[in-house]
Amino acid sequence: MQALLNEILDQVRPLIGKGKVADYIPALADVPADQLGIAVYGNDGELFTAGDAHTPFSIQSMSKVFSLVQAIQHSGEAIWERLGHEPSGQPFNSLLQLELENGRPRNPFINAGALVISDINQSRFAAPVLSMRDFVRRLSGNPHVAVDNRIAESEYQHRARNAAMAYLMQSFGNFHNDVETVLRGYFSHCALSMSCVDLAKAFCFLANDGFCKHSGEQVLSTRQTQQVNSIMATSGLYDEAGNFAYRVGLPGKSGVGGGIVAIVPGQYTICVWSPELNKAGNSLAGMAALEVLSERIGWSVF
Ligand code: GLN
Repeated sequence: MQALLNEILDQVRPLIGKGKVADYIPALADVPADQLGIAVYGNDGELFTAGDAHTPFSIQSMSKVFSLVQAIQHSGEAIWERLGHEPSGQPFNSLLQLELENGRPRNPFINAGALVISDINQSRFAAPVLSMRDFVRRLSGNPHVAVDNRIAESEYQHRARNAAMAYLMQSFGNFHNDVETVLRGYFSHCALSMSCVDLAKAFCFLANDGFCKHSGEQVLSTRQTQQVNSIMATSGLYDEAGNFAYRVGLPGKSGVGGGIVAIVPGQYTICVWSPELNKAGNSLAGMAALEVLSERIGWSVF
């Protein structure tokens, strides 16, 4: 595995320079583009890393999995009264379907859906960002995981599009808390800084019937774990979810910081990171690395 990871990073490294670092959040545009890392964490506790696997980066939309899991933990199936679990086939920041569908987002991994989940969590936690940070610290086994406030503030200053979605949902009665407060919370959890190793560990419960070994926590039931993985497989990479299923064949979740997590149910959790993105906002070299890895080992769930 170790030799394979080194070989795969060498193979995909020439893609660096062919994508584009996210710049619609100005603080993200400063991230050096030539970084590439991968961590593979087995259910048996074995960890393999290559490249910049220990460098923290902005997890961005990968945090939407943590917020969804917290909402499922406290509210279960009731959350689906507020949003769906259908793929959108639209970019992550699209407003198009929101008006057509009466302010009900298609799924929790596009921005509109994640904002509704943040609104649900705002109603349940006194301090939602701290609750999520502590949850993620436990799951990753890293007590130093923290929010990068510079990135959160930068995104708040450039919030027009996410604010438009939240206010539109409020106009349909699908937003219950102060919009600006929820936006601040959402941007803060997107701005959590974690490495590939942190993330492979933090998401390992999704490969392990909902059980996290480090914290000893049964995070979700087996059934709920299957459901979260199914939403990752159908919506985790937005309008590129089909391409990801075709090329990689695993439940996955990306973020505009350039990270992608992929789950091999019952076996492994993988996190890859490279900041340059393709047109759909997914890591260009990251996707390629996961494709080669999945193909070489025969991991596609299909
Ligand atoms: N915080 C980012 C946003 O709201 C997350 C987007 C992403 O990672 N796809 O636009």
